[in-house]
Amino acid sequence: MRTLAMALAALATPALAQVPLLSPAERDVRDRIIAAAQADARGYRIIEDLTTEIGPRLAGSPAEARARDWAVARLRAEGFGEVRVEPFSIIYWGRLKERASVQGRFTQPLMVAAIGGSPSTPAGGLTAEVVRFTHMDELRAADPATVRGKIVFIDEVMVPSGNGVTYGATVAKRRACAPVAAEKGAAACLVRSAGTSNRWPHVGQGARGAAAAIPKAVIANADAAQLTRLMARGPVTLNLDLQTESTPNAPSGNVIAEIRGTEKPDEIVLVACHLDSWDNSVGALDDAFGCGVTTAAARIATEVAGPPKRTIRVVWFGAEEVGILGGIAYAERHKADLPKHIIASQSDSGGAPAFALETGVGDPASPAVQAMVEALRPLSIVRAGNAGTGGPDIGPMRAQGVPVFDLEQDVSAYFSIHHTGDDTLEQVDPASVRCNSAAYALMIWRAAWTDADFRAKPVAR
Ligand SMILES: [Zn+2]
Repeated sequence: MRTLAMALAALATPALAQVPLLSPAERDVRDRIIAAAQADARGYRIIEDLTTEIGPRLAGSPAEARARDWAVARLRAEGFGEVRVEPFSIIYWGRLKERASVQGRFTQPLMVAAIGGSPSTPAGGLTAEVVRFTHMDELRAADPATVRGKIVFIDEVMVPSGNGVTYGATVAKRRACAPVAAEKGAAACLVRSAGTSNRWPHVGQGARGAAAAIPKAVIANADAAQLTRLMARGPVTLNLDLQTESTPNAPSGNVIAEIRGTEKPDEIVLVACHLDSWDNSVGALDDAFGCGVTTAAARIATEVAGPPKRTIRVVWFGAEEVGILGGIAYAERHKADLPKHIIASQSDSGGAPAFALETGVGDPASPAVQAMVEALRPLSIVRAGNAGTGGPDIGPMRAQGVPVFDLEQDVSAYFSIHHTGDDTLEQVDPASVRCNSAAYALMIWRAAWTDADFRAKPVAR
């Protein structure tokens, strides 16, 4: 039986492969979209102008507000008919001072950065002995007596990975350290960068709430290694001086631009980026890149294929870095129309060319998905699995059933730039902007000019 089934499968496979998923006319549109993207300069120009004219755009700050105004004007100038801001408010948090210095005979400074949400230390800093763990599980298992009153140091190293799995694993300590350490009576938390930059501390958001309310900071990889060497020479006492500020009800918002559908305007094809950045760089890759790519893609698809049947919605989310607050606000506000969202996809994985399509759809083998794969093939984008997330701000709507697509990028080099002072325009490769714009334009085209239903479950074929 097994042999027969395999023989039948072998017979069936060539027949399936011959199904003409894109018609000659569609292949022509595909080729013209790719050619238009290869000649497009808008994507890169958006990235250059946003990072140059606004600079860092910390969530809830006056700079993020200026970036929203800038985005509205720019999206209108790019030809989007309907542009609006959907405001929401957040707790603003900002750093004022961050300093760590080794006390005693080996006195020297170490490079640290406060973790988002960290309270201030007393003025002049807190001085305490450092206790080192190589993983959060060691801290969880530790006797509180060994931790009480000390600065907990989580010295877990992130190694580069092409698909970012090592980031996902090592970033957990940034949120987990303070609640666990505080419960054991620790004075503060110091975690090694969840990134691969040697020199820069990798900044990011920490856990919220009273349980996490001890001062917390990240320490650069080089300085974590230095601290470990110092500890090998005897107990180390550190002065940690973190001064931060916090404001309730600070403004943020999602900027939304649309090209209205001609036949089914209430059906939404959503592509996205996030407008905010961390405060230590202009956020060129994270995530001005995504804004340039997805915005150019929507224009390119429309200029080549004409007015879309369904509405194309480009969302520049606010306050992503501090907890996906824009994505949460969007899913809440649009709860009633999420069933009309055909697909959603966010570009927020650095600046490398897309190489694979990961779906999160009802039927990963549907003709609509196969046609999208065929559309992307000239860009050397291959089919990956069906465990796509859609991107950080897409998560809350994906949880409510919106089909998602990920254009996967190699992130092995990205995590030496991500959330560091090195995330500048110099990191952006214009050729990669054009390549990713082509991929997003093709994705948008296959969703907004068709009747494809990516929620539908597999049917017997
Ligand atoms: Zn990002």
